[in-house]
Amino acid sequence: MSTAPQEAWEADVPVRGDVAALATLLAEGGVLVLTGAGISTDSGIPDYRGPSSARRRHAPMTYDAFVGDPVARHRYWARSHVGWPQIAGAQPNVGHRAVATLQRAGLLHGLITQNVDGLHQAAGARDVVELHGALGRVVCLGCREVHGREPIQDRLAALNRGFDAHATTINPDGDAELGEADLDRFTMATCPGCGDGPLKPDVVFFGESVPRPRVDHCFDLVARARSLVVLGSSLTVMSGLRFVHAAARRDLPVAVVTAGPSRADDLAGVRLTDRLGEVLPTALDTLGLPDRA
Ligand SMILES: [Zn+2]
Repeated sequence: MSTAPQEAWEADVPVRGDVAALATLLAEGGVLVLTGAGISTDSGIPDYRGPSSARRRHAPMTYDAFVGDPVARHRYWARSHVGWPQIAGAQPNVGHRAVATLQRAGLLHGLITQNVDGLHQAAGARDVVELHGALGRVVCLGCREVHGREPIQDRLAALNRGFDAHATTINPDGDAELGEADLDRFTMATCPGCGDGPLKPDVVFFGESVPRPRVDHCFDLVARARSLVVLGSSLTVMSGLRFVHAAARRDLPVAVVTAGPSRADDLAGVRLTDRLGEVLPTALDTLGLPDRA
């Protein structure tokens, strides 16, 4: 098989600088790191986009459909029930560990992730701003109580003992691809707190806004950072891109390390397309920081 599609996909990226330039930026400290799906692909969680992306048979769930359509919600949970073990079983990779190492070394001003997989925390990072929420939590749309995902998953398992559907494809939001017949055999649980409230994973769906206090916190991080380093995100959605724009308005140095084009390519003084699993350990070596697994 030819690698031509990958090369064509990378062809328009204006590569600037090198790993040494990235290391220099990191060494200055005060770094605000913004991560996306690309940092979790080595953990087996596929990217939405790019050459390794899963081909979705159905569109991502929208907030309006989830809240307004009980059938759509039911089907989402059936798919999510099947997809969750792959998310829950994912292990942080060398990229997550490198970010945690930079934080322990005191070089980070903040860490914002667009991912909902919890892998930065699993690698030991603290004070992670989960811009789009976390699949490890479930919120009741009735009483607003927040539950851990595991007890909800246990209830779902108990209610669906005969439900043996297997996902053919898993999406990065834990939403699996299932056949139509499987979807209708699934039994959903209600909120264990109030008894009847509909449950929603505590993640920001397409068409839903990131909660304002969380956005404000991120802008505050940009306002006090010395640089912004984007890892594994094409910044396709404005929810992350706006922080790069804010950094550029402050004339902060911006680095972007991600495969394929990003919407911040014009703003990045350092722009690399190499794999994070190679770039970050090399940068840490340059800084004399060991990768502690
Ligand atoms: Zn409730």
